[in-house]
Amino acid sequence: MSVLLEVRGLRTAFHTSRGKAQAVRGVDLTVKPGEILGIVGESGSGKSVTCMSVLRLLKRAGRIEGGEVLFGGRDLLTLSEGQMSDIRGSDIGVIFQDPMSSLNPTLTVGEQVMEVILRHRGGGKAAARARTIELFEMVRIPSAATRIDAYPHEFSGGMRQRAMIAIALACEPKLLIADEPTTALDVTIQKQILSLIKELQGRLGMAVLLITHDLGVIAEAADRVMVMYGGMVMEEGPVARIFAAPRHPYTQGLMASVPDPRTAGEGRLAPIPGSPPDMMQPPAGCPFAPRCPAAMNVCDAEAPQLYAAGAAHRSRCWLMDPDAPQQGGAA
Ligand code: SF4
Ligand code: MG
Repeated sequence: MSVLLEVRGLRTAFHTSRGKAQAVRGVDLTVKPGEILGIVGESGSGKSVTCMSVLRLLKRAGRIEGGEVLFGGRDLLTLSEGQMSDIRGSDIGVIFQDPMSSLNPTLTVGEQVMEVILRHRGGGKAAARARTIELFEMVRIPSAATRIDAYPHEFSGGMRQRAMIAIALACEPKLLIADEPTTALDVTIQKQILSLIKELQGRLGMAVLLITHDLGVIAEAADRVMVMYGGMVMEEGPVARIFAAPRHPYTQGLMASVPDPRTAGEGRLAPIPGSPPDMMQPPAGCPFAPRCPAAMNVCDAEAPQLYAAGAAHRSRCWLMDPDAPQQGGAA
């Protein structure tokens, strides 16, 4: 199989008392088996909502209004909630930013790993306990055999995230979705968790969808990167290429706003002047136009498509189109 996850034309909105926020506006993405795809963008760009849509874990006000989410050839959007919860935790593992809120404070960490194994894999308690110890060793929690009986509050933040990784990988998923997995941790621990994810990805051969607002995390861990803004994919391509030769003004702005994006944890996105679009009334044209130093008349009027910018590299910008109407006139 050449593609593990394929998202086509995903549109997700949140219905609020103020109106409808169009958080994701036509996102296409593919993840191949064994690759790490990074999604980077400022908060509100639609990157988390894209992943929550794939997992069908949107908050109640959220609704998927269009598109397909093909995982191993099946459209996840057509499955029942029961079928979907069989997939979450077995074929697709998930880790979030804050491991404390994902762990149950009243159960030992080991019980929570065992619960996942028993739910998806069956077998007896003794086997699940043995497997839990193995998993703790795999994520390098020291003294695994005794630490599995500790409660979440007895773990440090980094150890809790290791435990979350153990839960996510308990059933050897084909895909791990990691939403800001290192954001809540301090820089040293961030690097350890990131290299653990990368090492386990190599060892288990799973694919990873890695969401972050940190270019350093992308530089260190991802094979390919998708840059999101205003609910759309602005640029995508191999990481080395995007860092060496970003073509989209937004990506170029992100790169310029950090001193050295190749340093994980120190490559957090500094704000580009201006503010992101109001998704209640998303602009008809390029969502980045009000902040873009290169904006032209056409940019406000019409949204550009994703143009080829080289091998596996695409940029959603009118600058890529030699025939762009009204080129040159600054808006
Ligand atoms: Fe800037 Fe226009 Fe390109 Fe948007 S389409 S990024 S406004 S030049
Ligand atoms: Mg988020």
